[in-house]
Amino acid sequence: MAFNPADVKSLMEITSRPELIFVKGEGSWLEDQEGRRYLDIMQGWAVNCLGHCPPEVVQAIEHQAKVLINPSPGFYNQPSIDLANRLTSASCFDRVFFANSGAEANEGAIKLARKWGQIHRNGAYKIITFDHSFHGRTLATMSASGKAGWDKKFAPQVDGFPKAIMNYLDSVRELIDDQTVAVMLEPVQGEGGVIPADMQFMRELRALTREKGILLIVDEVQTGMGRCGTMFAYQHYGIEPDIMTLGKGIGGGVPLSALLCREEVACFEHGDQGGTYNGNPLMTAAGVAVFDVLNAPGFMESINERAQYLSDGLNKLSAKWGMKGERGLGLLRALMLDREDGNAIVEAARTRAPEGLLLNAPRTNLLRFMPALNISKEEIDLMLSWLDELIAQVRQ
Ligand SMILES: *Cc1c(COP(=O)(O)O)cnc(C)c1O
Repeated sequence: MAFNPADVKSLMEITSRPELIFVKGEGSWLEDQEGRRYLDIMQGWAVNCLGHCPPEVVQAIEHQAKVLINPSPGFYNQPSIDLANRLTSASCFDRVFFANSGAEANEGAIKLARKWGQIHRNGAYKIITFDHSFHGRTLATMSASGKAGWDKKFAPQVDGFPKAIMNYLDSVRELIDDQTVAVMLEPVQGEGGVIPADMQFMRELRALTREKGILLIVDEVQTGMGRCGTMFAYQHYGIEPDIMTLGKGIGGGVPLSALLCREEVACFEHGDQGGTYNGNPLMTAAGVAVFDVLNAPGFMESINERAQYLSDGLNKLSAKWGMKGERGLGLLRALMLDREDGNAIVEAARTRAPEGLLLNAPRTNLLRFMPALNISKEEIDLMLSWLDELIAQVRQ
C-alpha cells in the first residue's frame, strides 16, 4: 500500500517523519507497509535492546496480559517485585520506583533529591547538570537539560539547574554553594553526541560530591541495561552513585523506566510520589524478561566483543575517508565525520535500495550507532559495507 499523506492528518505534527509506515519488526530488521526491509541501527533510540519483538519479551507480555494487567499501583504485584529485586541485586541501590518514561524517572530523581535537601541540607534544592546534557521533555527535565535554546522554550524554566562543563571538575566545584543538593549527569552524553565522562572525572566527581555532602545522580536512561557493556555504566567507572534512573532498554521497547536510590536517600513520604501506571505488571513482566536475557552468563562479554568489532570497523571507515575517528562505550558509539554531511548520509541510508539502513545523526558532523545488543557480527559487517557505499554516494 502506498503512503497517503491525508491518512496521517490527525496526528500532531511534532517532528518531520519520512513517508513510511512500519508494520513489522524482527531482531535488527524492520519492514514497511510496502514490504521493504531496513537494517535498524537506531532501535527506537536505543530502546529495543534485544531488537524488535524479541521472543522472550513477546512471551512475557502474552502471558501477563492473560493473567493480570493492572491491579492498581496501590497494591503489590509480583512482576514489579521480581524486577525490583533483580535491579537491587545487580546494583548498589536498595530501592526502586517504577515509572513510564525516562523523563518521568528523572522528574522523580529531581523530586527525591529536593526532598532529601529539605531534610538533610537546610532546604538546598539546586542540582548541577551539564552543557549538552539531555534529561527529557517535561518542564523540569528540559530545564535540567543543557540543550542550546531550551532555556527560552516554554519559559519560565524550572529554577535551580546551573550548568557545568562535562569532564571539567573545576566547573562543577565553582557552582557548588549551600543551596546545592546534587550533581546529575549521563555517564555518556547520548543526545549530546556520545560523549563519555572521563574515568578520572567521574571518580573525582564522586569524591567531590561526597566531600561536599551532596548527592550524585546518574541518568542512565540511555547508558543503562547493558548498553555500555556493563549492566549499568556507572559500574564501568568503579563508583557508586546515590541515585540512578533507567529507561529505554529496561522495557525492551515497552514504556517502562525506573528510579533507584540507596536506602539512606529513600526519603519519600506517603503521597510524595506515585502515578496511575507505575509498576504495572504488564510492563514490569517485560522488564523481567529483558533483565534475564541481559543477565545471562556471557551476555555482557558478548556485547563488549561486538562493541570492539564495531569500533574497529568504524575506525577503518574513518581512516579510509579521512574522518575524525570514533568514540563511545559498549554499543553506544559515534563516528565523527570530517564534514557536515551526517543528515545527508542518514537520508541516503534510509532510502537505499533495495534494503534501507536506519541511522541517526544527533549532530550534523556525527553518526550515532545504538544497535540491538544482540546484533550479529554479520549484521555489523553488512552495516559497515553499506555505510562505505553510502559515504561514497553522498560524497561523489
Ligand atoms: C531518552 C533520554 C531521556 C528521556 O527519556 P524519555 O523516555 O524520552 O522520556 C532522558 N535521559 C536520557 C539520558 C535519555 O537518553
